[in-house]
Amino acid sequence: MILTTPLLERLAREGAVHVVATPANAAVLAHHPAVASVIVYDKRNADAGLAGLRRVAARLRATGATTAYMAQGSWRTAALARWAGVASVGFDTSAGRWLYSRRVPYRNDWHHAQRLWGLADDPRAPSVAAPGPLRPSLFPSADDEAQVTALLAAAGVESGEPLVALAPGSVWATKRWPSYDALAGALVARLPAARVVVIGAGGDAPLAAAIGEAVRQRGGRPVLDATGRLSLLGSAALLARCTLLVTNDSAPLHLASAMNTPTVALFGPTVPSMGFGPLADRQVVLGRHELTCRPCSAHGGQACPLGHWQCMRDVQPSAVTEQIVREMRARQ
Ligand code: SF4
Repeated sequence: MILTTPLLERLAREGAVHVVATPANAAVLAHHPAVASVIVYDKRNADAGLAGLRRVAARLRATGATTAYMAQGSWRTAALARWAGVASVGFDTSAGRWLYSRRVPYRNDWHHAQRLWGLADDPRAPSVAAPGPLRPSLFPSADDEAQVTALLAAAGVESGEPLVALAPGSVWATKRWPSYDALAGALVARLPAARVVVIGAGGDAPLAAAIGEAVRQRGGRPVLDATGRLSLLGSAALLARCTLLVTNDSAPLHLASAMNTPTVALFGPTVPSMGFGPLADRQVVLGRHELTCRPCSAHGGQACPLGHWQCMRDVQPSAVTEQIVREMRARQ
């Protein structure tokens, strides 16, 4: 959903944009000026089954929308557009493509934000690259900002204190770099004035605890553990106040792109050329680029199919530390 926002902004220049979204994604779009309304599709609960799908289709029809851009490519959303009587445009690789009114080539050589943006291309003209770099956009509310201010104050963070955000989590185990605690410990000596902030979901709390312990053992400033304490937009607001983010190929990477927070991204079983790399002005991707087994899956798996997991295990904390130090110096 975050990478869809450049497309939403493009479409909003032509007319009202209504977005069908899961409850979690609907929250991400709150306050977005390109969005006229969000139709929440709670497919697992309130809108489960065909009856729920038809109900949501009726709500989509009521908006008066004429075309649906299928950022999410399932057969279910394709059926939704059909039942709403709305023409649909989507990728020629999507599961629901047989139901689309028009299919657009899925460009493997484009960033996904660019691919989505291209869904609105004039079908009579050749597809073109966006005029300039695309960056997603998010709009945290005043409440989100206030929550972040309170979190920083409670942790004793002083004005101007450099914040280094770490996002150690991922749904996929093979994407989780295993050395965030070693990195945080090394940063105590290299960047003693900086404060480590851990971003993530509630399930990432054990990773945050290991990072906090590594910093404590080296006598560093107490780590600010924000895991599970902020919404996605709240996390975006926090990232906007951080000097940089170190992250896996996961959601915080895209939050940082939206807030233009300098990003050090660690890629293992996936590679940025698949279209999901960072889009901040200042960003670098680290990984074992020479490994011939990369990438081994579209999303990363729960276990390395070769058993050695060298793509992540062998990314050295010292290399990441040096990259962070370079970036911090560049910002001074
Ligand atoms: S097969 Fe290669 S790319 Fe995939 S998880 Fe294992 S080491 Fe990483």
